[in-house]
Amino acid sequence: MVRFALPMYLLKALLPAQTRLRLRSYSWWARGWFYQGKEVFCPLCEGHFQKFLPFGVERRPQALCPKCHTLERHRLLWLYLQEQVQVETQQLSVLHMAPEPVLQEKLKRLPNLQYRSADLSSPLAMDKVDIQRLPYADASFDLILCSHVLAHVPDEKLALQELSRVLKPKGRLLLQARIFLDLPQTLEEADVATPQQRLKAHGQADRFRKYGLDFSERVSAQGFAVSPVDYAQTRTSQEQQHLGLGQQEIIFVATPSAHVPA
Ligand SMILES: [Zn+2]
Repeated sequence: MVRFALPMYLLKALLPAQTRLRLRSYSWWARGWFYQGKEVFCPLCEGHFQKFLPFGVERRPQALCPKCHTLERHRLLWLYLQEQVQVETQQLSVLHMAPEPVLQEKLKRLPNLQYRSADLSSPLAMDKVDIQRLPYADASFDLILCSHVLAHVPDEKLALQELSRVLKPKGRLLLQARIFLDLPQTLEEADVATPQQRLKAHGQADRFRKYGLDFSERVSAQGFAVSPVDYAQTRTSQEQQHLGLGQQEIIFVATPSAHVPA
C-alpha cells in the first residue's frame, strides 16, 4: 500500500481541524478498501475486512478497524448502546464526553437523540467544557458516555460529582477506563505532580492515576450504584473474534444510587 505523509506539525499549522479530519477519513477509507475481506466485521462502520490491525504501545492484535480507526472498546460500547440502551430508537438526551469522532458522527445523525459532545480542548467537540465544572443544568441528561477520561482528570471526585449532578435521576452513566489488573488499589501518588513524573510513573504525561480493581468502589463513593458489565461475554468466542471485541473490556454502568431499588 502506497503511503505518504507530511509532518503532523505542518498539517496542524496549515489546516483547520475539520479539514484534517476529512483528509484523515479519506486515507482511512483507502486503507479500509485495501483490507476489505470477509474475516471480521466492524459494527461501527459496518465494514467487512481481512482483519483488525495491531494497535497500542503494548501491541494488541485484532484491535484497530482499518477503515474507521475504532478500537475494541468502541465496538463493544456501540453494541451495548444498540442492544441495551436502544440508542437508535429511544428518545434520549445524551452527553458524550471526549467524543470519539466515529461514534460522535453516528450519534449526531440519530434524530431521536438530543446530543451534545463536550471536551476540554478537542475542536471536534460541540462544547468546550471542564468536566470538573460542567456548564449544564442539574438533571439534564438521560445518558452520559465517558470513556477513558477520568484517569486524565486532576480531581476525579469533582468530575464524578458533576456527572452525577447533570444526570437525570433515572439516567445512566457509561464509563470505560483502563484497569490495571495487577493493582488491587488505584495508584495515585501525591508526589507525582509534573507531566514528567506522571509519564515515568503512569506511562502518560496526562495520566493522573492508574486505576486498579477498586475502580467501581471509587465511582460508588461519589453517589452511584455501579455494575461492571463484561458485554463481550454475550457473544461466543468466535463472534468476539469476528467483531474484534478484545479481552476484558468492561463497561461500568453507573446509576444515581438514590434511585436504584434496594
Ligand atoms: Zn470500522
